[in-house]
Amino acid sequence: MSGFKKICTTTINGKRWIVGYGYTGKTNGKINDGLCDYEKRRIILQRRENGRKSTIIDVAVHELMHAFLVCLNEDAVNDFGELCGRVLPKLLAVDADK
Ligand SMILES: [Zn+2]
Repeated sequence: MSGFKKICTTTINGKRWIVGYGYTGKTNGKINDGLCDYEKRRIILQRRENGRKSTIIDVAVHELMHAFLVCLNEDAVNDFGELCGRVLPKLLAVDADK
């Protein structure tokens, strides 16, 4: 298991969470892109970009959604993460003032 690299802390629903890169565990033998650890209040993202199946935005939004709205099912979280993964990079790539 590799170490955890803290990137930032943030408040979600009044509770302090830590967001960073680290070991996300495995599902069916494959390393997970991300992990929302409710007990430790940690959002962990797979650090190796080529080890991820999705973009960092997709994964980060996905795990943040899990932390923010515990009631959402996996399909809804997946869809919203993928939506953000498609749209946000296009917005971020453009300087709107020019
Ligand atoms: Zn999920």
